[in-house]
Amino acid sequence: MRKVYNYAAGPSMLPEEVLLEVQRDLLDYKGSGMFVGEMSHRGKWYEEIHNEALSLFRELMGVSDDYYVLFVQGGGSTQFEAVPLNLLSEENGKKADYIVTGNFANKAYKEAVKYGDIACVATSKDDNFSYIPDVDSVEYRKGTDYVHITYNNTIYGTRYTKLPPVNNLVADMSSMILSEPVDVSKFKVIYAGAQKNLAPAGLTIVVVRKDIVDNGTPLPFCPTMLKYKTQADANSLYNTPTSFSTYVAMLNLRWLKKFGGVKEIEKQNIYKAGLLYDILDESKFYKGASRKECRSMMNVAFTTPSPELDAKFVKEATENGMVSLKGHRAVGGIRASIYNAMPVEGVKKLAEFMKKFETENK
Ligand SMILES: *Cc1c(COP(=O)(O)O)cnc(C)c1O
Repeated sequence: MRKVYNYAAGPSMLPEEVLLEVQRDLLDYKGSGMFVGEMSHRGKWYEEIHNEALSLFRELMGVSDDYYVLFVQGGGSTQFEAVPLNLLSEENGKKADYIVTGNFANKAYKEAVKYGDIACVATSKDDNFSYIPDVDSVEYRKGTDYVHITYNNTIYGTRYTKLPPVNNLVADMSSMILSEPVDVSKFKVIYAGAQKNLAPAGLTIVVVRKDIVDNGTPLPFCPTMLKYKTQADANSLYNTPTSFSTYVAMLNLRWLKKFGGVKEIEKQNIYKAGLLYDILDESKFYKGASRKECRSMMNVAFTTPSPELDAKFVKEATENGMVSLKGHRAVGGIRASIYNAMPVEGVKKLAEFMKKFETENK
């Protein structure tokens, strides 16, 4: 058993089972005599890992043959640029709409502005990003190449429970990928860094509709490494891949499959988040950072009555083996990130601590 529960927003916890497998394989992967990170990415050992990770991801996420799944590098942040560079079309006037629901959404928007006619068509900035704008009353522009959303807002603890009624969505799913079922067919592009819900940092996943890659024309100055076609044509092996991260992703995807897949983990995620939100709802001591109707299942953000008590909470939790609970500076307070790998026991322990802390400090 590990010594602490880690509630970090990312990089974050991986399942203990997965880490034990990594430990077992570390000096000698399946009789190869090598660590995965030492192997040729063109050799048979790595090729098997790569292809299994790709196909397990496709299976668990429910990605049809109409889409490519790409393994790239550079994190979610590089996709903030890759998306406009690949999707904006000169013919259509390089138009895209963005819904800005937090820090990462705003960063994505700001990168896109450099490349075309980009509009922020809705934002929740007026109330410190504590909610998701009503997607049905947004005035989307005609003739856009895409509408960009950030599905789960890691810092503010909000998530979309309803999608914008458009047929050209692009979504940053970095902090909720594989935590709940998603209808992939509603999206042109989905992207996510692996370090929140899947693997160590490095691997970044892009799910992109095939027609965009096969018939699209990236902007002329799009770097080769950012063109989706480059990796699609090379089975994501155009250059040296992030092999260790992909290997851990493969183990984690096996773990998720054994668990019962995304539908099963969603049930557990609803239950886990409910344990903490029930306390927030019943308490006059704690205050949730996000509005009820759009609360994140992955990042539970809240405050106590004062910054001093917030600090005391984080300190005492740490002393009790619950680490990385300090909220992001944009919100303050406390944030518990409870991704797929956070065991139910870890959330129960935090819930008990929250009740005890309230009794002792109110
Ligand atoms: C963490 C995060 C990012 C940034 O990812 P990097 O891999 O650090 O570039 C982007 N979007 C969301 C929603 C995130 O949670």
